[in-house]
Amino acid sequence: ARRPVVGGNFKCNGDFAFIKTHTEVLKTIPKNNVEVYVAPSAIHLKTLADNLKGTHIEVAAQNVYYEKPGAWTGELNVEMLLDCGLKTVIIGHSERRRIMGETNEQSAKKAARAISLGMTVAFCIGETLEERNAGKVDEVNFAQLEALRAVLKEADWKNVIIAYEPVWSIGTGVVASPEQAQEVHASIRKWLGEKVSKAVADATRIQYGGSVNAANCAALGKCPDIDGFLVGGASLKPEFVQIVTTLG
Ligand code: 13P
Repeated sequence: ARRPVVGGNFKCNGDFAFIKTHTEVLKTIPKNNVEVYVAPSAIHLKTLADNLKGTHIEVAAQNVYYEKPGAWTGELNVEMLLDCGLKTVIIGHSERRRIMGETNEQSAKKAARAISLGMTVAFCIGETLEERNAGKVDEVNFAQLEALRAVLKEADWKNVIIAYEPVWSIGTGVVASPEQAQEVHASIRKWLGEKVSKAVADATRIQYGGSVNAANCAALGKCPDIDGFLVGGASLKPEFVQIVTTLG
C-alpha cells in the first residue's frame, strides 16, 4: 500500500511572526500513517526547518534551479536546499509554469537535478479549464509527465511524488469532484504503467491539489488512486491539522 502524503504549500505568504505561530500549529499534527511536508517561502525555509527539527513534519522548498552553483542571480540551487536540511522540493507548480513561464523541459530539468542529489520531488501537473473543456486533460498531463520521464531512469521514480493540480481548481474554491479527480489519477497511473513500469505505477503517490479543505478532503481521500493532497490556502490555517488527521 502507498503511504499517504500531504503537503502544505504556503506560496508567497507569511512573515517570521507567522512562521513562529504556525510552527506551534504544525507541531500539533499527530504522528499517524500520513507523511507530511510543508513548503514555506525560500526566505523562511531555514527557520521553519530548524523549528521543526526532530518532529515528523518535513520542510520542503517551493522551487529550485536546475544548474550547479554559479552565476545565476536570484536563484537557489539544490546544494543550498540540502544545506538547510531539506529532502523535498515542489517542482513545476502551475504558478511557476503559467505565471513565470517555466516550460515542461525546465521543470523536468529541475526535478532531475534535485533527484540526482538525493532529493524527493513533488512534481506538479494539471490542465487549465480551457484545456479540460477542449477534452485535452490527458494530453496536457501526459506531456508534462513525458518531459519528466525523458530525463529520469526507472529507479529515480522512487523519489517522485506526482501532484495533480487542475489549474481551474487552484485558489478558486472550485474543488474537483472525487469522480473527476479519481478519473485523472487513474489515467496518470495507467500512463505510468505503460510508459515507465508496473512497479512504478503501483508505488508512485499521486496527490490531489486544488481548493482542498477540511470539509472536502474525506471524500477525495477515499478514492483509490488519490494518495494525499497538496494544500495551498488551507495549509496556512489550523485546518491543515484536520486535513492530515482526516486522511490518517
Ligand atoms: P489552494 O489549496 O489554495 O487551491 O492551492 C492549491 C495549490 O496550488 C497547492 O500547491
